[in-house]
Amino acid sequence: MQVVSSIVDLEQILTHQHTKMALVPTMGALHEGHLSLVEIAKSKAGFVMVSIFVNPLQFGPNEDFTKYPRDLRSDLGKLAGLGVDLVFAPEVADIYQSKPKEIMANPQLANILCGLSRPGHFDGVCTVVYRLFELMNPSFAIFGEKDYQQLMIIQDMVKSYKLAVEIVPAPIIRESSGLALSSRNQYLSDSQKLAAANIHQVLKRFANDEIDINFARDFLSKLGIELEYLEKHFARTYIAAKVGSTRLIDNV
Ligand code: AMP
Repeated sequence: MQVVSSIVDLEQILTHQHTKMALVPTMGALHEGHLSLVEIAKSKAGFVMVSIFVNPLQFGPNEDFTKYPRDLRSDLGKLAGLGVDLVFAPEVADIYQSKPKEIMANPQLANILCGLSRPGHFDGVCTVVYRLFELMNPSFAIFGEKDYQQLMIIQDMVKSYKLAVEIVPAPIIRESSGLALSSRNQYLSDSQKLAAANIHQVLKRFANDEIDINFARDFLSKLGIELEYLEKHFARTYIAAKVGSTRLIDNV
């Protein structure tokens, strides 16, 4: 497994690469959800790449960019032995010093759900993903359904810009409690984690029309969880909620 941080080193390796390549873009703090994407990447292409980059452009001014968990050594330990060929872990300056093309997310997809409380978030996501595609030239890129709105926006970007990459969706990996795995679960105390499992339960019950939004809001509120949204769009149901200061999302 080669690990590079500079674009020059990345390009040097990739010019000698003639098999199809699959990319798993991540922000690190890897868990089983990310590792499941690596397995899918392996089934798609002979050369598997993982990027690890906490992208400042997709964080708002009051969000957790500086405290977002970063542990490259532990991430590399988790990837070792999985059959990953290349890890690209650049610094912010490597990605942004050359002023990459700014990509706007399709407003029809970006101005709902997470886009409402995180203005500019999906533009930041599109800009970095476009840049990574430009630098790494994958034939396949694997994105988790955990971030379903992001997945739809990236699919839309690929279509609009006629990019030669196939976006491969990956199912959500959960704890046995139902809680979707997330790097941000690290912020939760044991009791918050127990409470957070109710987010998925409420989501499922609302999706099945067993409860309404008021019941959902009250139920979560009694557990110390603040509901941000619980809505149906595009034949799916989406939730965002705050457990303490930790914002979690899920969908079914
Ligand atoms: P992140 O590091 O949070 O940016 O996530 C990197 C990729 O992993 C994204 O495509 C996510 O949708 C995906 N991912 C994160 N958590 C999960 C999960 N629990 N199950 C499946 N995919 C996930």
